[in-house]
Amino acid sequence: MPLFRPPSEAFSLILQVTLGCSHNACTFCGMYKMKKFRVREWPEIEKDINEAAAFPEGVERIFLADGNALALETEMLENLLGRLYQSFPDLKRVTSYAGPRDLLGKSLEELKRIRESGLKLLYLGVESGSASILEEVNKGVSPDEMVEAGRRAKEAGFELSVTVLTGLGGKDKSLENAVDTAAVLNSMQPDYVGALTLTPTPNTALYSKMKKGEFQLLDPLENLQELKWLVERLDMSESCLFRCNHASNYLPLRGTLPQDRDKLAGLLADVVENPNRYRLKPESMRGL
Ligand code: SF4
Repeated sequence: MPLFRPPSEAFSLILQVTLGCSHNACTFCGMYKMKKFRVREWPEIEKDINEAAAFPEGVERIFLADGNALALETEMLENLLGRLYQSFPDLKRVTSYAGPRDLLGKSLEELKRIRESGLKLLYLGVESGSASILEEVNKGVSPDEMVEAGRRAKEAGFELSVTVLTGLGGKDKSLENAVDTAAVLNSMQPDYVGALTLTPTPNTALYSKMKKGEFQLLDPLENLQELKWLVERLDMSESCLFRCNHASNYLPLRGTLPQDRDKLAGLLADVVENPNRYRLKPESMRGL
């Protein structure tokens, strides 16, 4: 512990195949600070599978935790996936987080083998499309590498769900964060986009920077303005589900792109111009 999963995996069986995150260096992220990354040994994983498989009925979804299951050797992942579909007869999909470096570390042929073994959807934290912001927050990849990682996942046949963070550039780079992030998403064409709102937690380097006055957090309306700049620039050619319903968000939003883009951007423009007409989530109710 602690254990993290995407909101959409609330009803999934969670199987830890790694502990922590293989990167564990992003300045805004405190998720795995207390864990030293390692791939769990097969006997440990097998023990968990056997325990869960004693009650296999109704297990339709499995999420492979922690940070990035793609850090596993391809053959081990193939064997693991085969074992899961064998042990849980109702299983329909297996998903996991994917770090961009781990995606880039596998060949297209390996990724296709993993996909064919039954890992169906990958969650990729894009965070920002700005080169300078990605460097500042120590994401470990450039925007081009991030696009390549996402494209490779799509080409291998995975469904791709990405998250971006409004406010990650602070007040100085708010427009840049929106414009460059839209460009990366347009190049990547993910199936799902989740927009989260930056909420620095005390165990992070970004929080310390903010406390020293070196990083200016956006206020709620500035965040929504940035979200508007982002949404109005999204150009999705295929159906993409856009969600802004994370605990960190000030205003829940959901739509299908491209058809709902202008409606979403119009709503955000109205919120920014007429905030008194809307009830934004109070700070006390925002959590991670
Ligand atoms: S944001 Fe993702 S890649 Fe970065 S440290 Fe956190 S879990 Fe690891």
